[in-house]
Amino acid sequence: MKKGKAVVVFSGGQDSTTCLFWAIEKFEEVIAVSFNYNQKHILELECAKNICKKHNIEHHILDLSLLNQLAPNSLTRADIEVDKDAPKSGPPNTFVDGRNLLFLSFAAVFAKQSGVKHIITGVSQSDFSGYPDCRDAFIKSLNVTLNLAMDYEFVIHTPLMWIDKEETWKLAYDLGVLDIIKNETLTCYNGIIGDGCGDCPACKLRKRGYVEFKKKNQ
Ligand code: ZN
Repeated sequence: MKKGKAVVVFSGGQDSTTCLFWAIEKFEEVIAVSFNYNQKHILELECAKNICKKHNIEHHILDLSLLNQLAPNSLTRADIEVDKDAPKSGPPNTFVDGRNLLFLSFAAVFAKQSGVKHIITGVSQSDFSGYPDCRDAFIKSLNVTLNLAMDYEFVIHTPLMWIDKEETWKLAYDLGVLDIIKNETLTCYNGIIGDGCGDCPACKLRKRGYVEFKKKNQ
């Protein structure tokens, strides 16, 4: 049985789009929230908009340009190139300090104002690419903090936390949305929709998972 309403933090990429359709299966009403932080590939917001429009999902794009001002990064600045390979230590230069903290905090404010307790995010500890704010401990800690901050019983759901990219493709397949994820989402750091450039770390991770998924699900 479906229960209540949920807010999905939605970027228009593979992971959050899979979560959006996961949420549609689980909840009676789903609202998608995207953030505009002047990301280099503003096209991802177009993907997000198109997916919501096509599937009749309420969608809000919130302005978070402050994040761009505070945390210059290879995903926000044209003059900073994306790291081709993972650095020897620390997160890669595609990591944006505070991004998930801010996204989830603003999504929570939005959710409470809309009378919603359930928040869904596509972070994954299995494929976390060295991003500290994709780890389970951070999400659990933030959940407690948000509840204390707003005296409210938020429940943050992380359907992808313990699955890798191959299993994320399988989840999309099981939800009947494989083609939507494959063709209409943007994960590529070079801003190419669908299969992407094939060469950046995000494309490599996405492709490796897809190849493994296909091997087992011919
Ligand atoms: Zn790419």
